[in-house]
Amino acid sequence: MAVSAYDPQNIFAKILRGEIPCNKVFEDDHVLAFHDIAPQAPTHILVIPKGTYTSYDDFATNASDAEIIAYTRAIGKIAATAGVVEDGYRLIANTRDHGRQDVPHLHVHIIGGKKLGLMLP
Ligand code: 5GP
Repeated sequence: MAVSAYDPQNIFAKILRGEIPCNKVFEDDHVLAFHDIAPQAPTHILVIPKGTYTSYDDFATNASDAEIIAYTRAIGKIAATAGVVEDGYRLIANTRDHGRQDVPHLHVHIIGGKKLGLMLP
């Protein structure tokens, strides 16, 4: 699968290198999570792998099993810690051009804390 080359100057790469601050909610060997700078709901957390994956399809194709397991479990753990599991929440991974992905480092949005609107195509 063709994916674009990773841009080490993207904003999340800078956050990972500590060049730009973030409001961190979780970190382990494989994953970093922080609050979105422009939250769309009471809970809006971005979860990123520490590996340099441009998008979900890059990650799903090229990440190790250990990275994929760590990332998947971290998303569930972070949602639980954020207190959105009981009432529910939404996971979004905008993917490349048609998916309107702005930052070319894989990130899953955890959005919740209120009843969300229906998604538009
Ligand atoms: P995308 O459209 O790529 O799926 O989402 C990118 C998200 O990153 C947006 O929700 C945007 O608000 C968030 N974002 C962009 N720049 C920064 C930043 O410097 N810090 C944080 N915490 N979030 C950012």
